[in-house]
Amino acid sequence: MTNHQPRDPSARPPLVPLATLIGRELRGEKSERPSLRYGHAGLAKRGEDLFLIKPDCLRIPGNNSTAFSVFAIFDGHNGVSAAVFTKEHLLDHVMSAIPQGIGRDEWLQELPRALVAGFVKTDIDFQRKGEASGTTVTFVVIDGWTVTVASVGDSRCILDSQGGVVSLLTVDHRLEENVEERERVTASGGEVGRLNLCGGQEVGPLRCWPGGLCLSRSIGDTDVGEFIVPIPHVKQVKLSSAGGRLIIASDGIWDALSSEMAAKACRGLPAELAAKLVVKEALRTSGLKDDTTCLVVDIVPSDHSVSPPSPKKHQNKLRSLFLSLRSQNSAKHPNKLSSVGSVEELFEEGSAMLEERLGTNFPSKANSSPFRCAICQTDQAPNEGLSATTGSFFSSSPKSWEGPYLCTECRKKKDAMEGKRSSRSTAATAPR
Ligand SMILES: [Zn+2]
Repeated sequence: MTNHQPRDPSARPPLVPLATLIGRELRGEKSERPSLRYGHAGLAKRGEDLFLIKPDCLRIPGNNSTAFSVFAIFDGHNGVSAAVFTKEHLLDHVMSAIPQGIGRDEWLQELPRALVAGFVKTDIDFQRKGEASGTTVTFVVIDGWTVTVASVGDSRCILDSQGGVVSLLTVDHRLEENVEERERVTASGGEVGRLNLCGGQEVGPLRCWPGGLCLSRSIGDTDVGEFIVPIPHVKQVKLSSAGGRLIIASDGIWDALSSEMAAKACRGLPAELAAKLVVKEALRTSGLKDDTTCLVVDIVPSDHSVSPPSPKKHQNKLRSLFLSLRSQNSAKHPNKLSSVGSVEELFEEGSAMLEERLGTNFPSKANSSPFRCAICQTDQAPNEGLSATTGSFFSSSPKSWEGPYLCTECRKKKDAMEGKRSSRSTAATAPR
C-alpha cells in the first residue's frame, strides 16, 4: 500500500468555513500549521511488520483545529497477534488517558504521560489474551511542528532536519547495546546472556532469560519475564518552520543502514520515492534477512509544493554527531528545554519506573475522579487500589508508591515489572 498527499491531484481542497478561517487568522495559525507528505515501502520475509498511517485524527471530534496525525511501525516477533492488537488499540488507549477539556498546549504537555499509560494498558490487555507473541512499537504523533515519538524495542525514528542534521528520536532497547537496560533487567530478576550451545559455546546477541528475547522492552511477550516492560522512551521536539523529514523503520532497515546512510539515500526526493529508495538501499547492502518496513514523513511549510530536506554537504557534521551522542545519553533528563540546530527539544524521558513516568500531580485536571486509575482509566472504590494519599496497602512493598492512583490490576503489573511480584504472598503471582 502506498500513501502520499495529495492523494488525487484533481481533487479540490475541502471548503473551510469562514468562521474557522477568521479564527485561524486571529490566532495567527494560518502560516503555522505545516503540510505532511508521506510514503511507505516494505518487503516481507515473515509478514510480522505492520504499520499505521492515520493523517486525519481529531483530538476533539468535529473540531478541525484539533487535528493531528499518527504514523507507527509495529515489528512483531513470535507471531503477528501482538502487532495486530497494538495497531488496533494503542491510539484509543493513549487518547483515553488525555484529560478532557484541555487546550492545545496542555495536550502536548500531557501526551508523554498518556503515551506511557496507553502503552502499559495495551500490554496488560494483550497479555490477558494469553497469546505469546510480542511487538516493537514506534509511535509518532505530529501536531503542527511538534513531533512526539514513543517507542519500545528497536524500530527507530530518525529526523533529518533542514541543513542536513540527522538525529535519533528513539533509543534502541536491545540488551546487546544498552547497558542501562541490562542492569535494569538483572536488578528486576532476569538473567542476561547468550544462547548456549550444547558444547558450552555462546552464540548470538545478548538475550534475557527466561524467554530468550534480545529486546529489553516490548508490548506482549507474555511468555517472557515481566521485566521486559512496555514503558516507552518518549521524546518530543519542535521543528522550525523550515520543517524536516522523519524516517520510521523496522530493524530490517537499521541492521543494514546507519541513520546517516538512510537519510542520505533519499535526500531531495519526494516521500513516496524516498521510502522505496531507503528499502532498496538496505536490500542492496544486506539482502532480505528480515521484514523490512519504512515510512517517510515530510513536515513542510504548507505553502510549499514539494520541499523535502535539501542536501547540504560539508555542513553540520559536528552538530549532527553532537546531537546523536546527546540523544543516546540524555534519557534521564526530562523537561529540559534546549535548542540544537533548528530543532527545539521539549521533552525526553526513558525511565522504566512508572513512578517517574506518571508523576505525582496526575491527574492534573479536575475532570478525572480521584480514584480513576492513571493507566487503565477505570474508576475504583477507594479502598481497593493504591494512591499517593492513602499510601501502600501492601506492607511487603519496600517503599510506598508516590505516583498517581492505580487500580489493583495495574498496581500488580507495576510491581511485576519492577521485579517485586515475588515479594507478595499470592500464589498466582509467583515468578516465572
Ligand atoms: Zn488500572
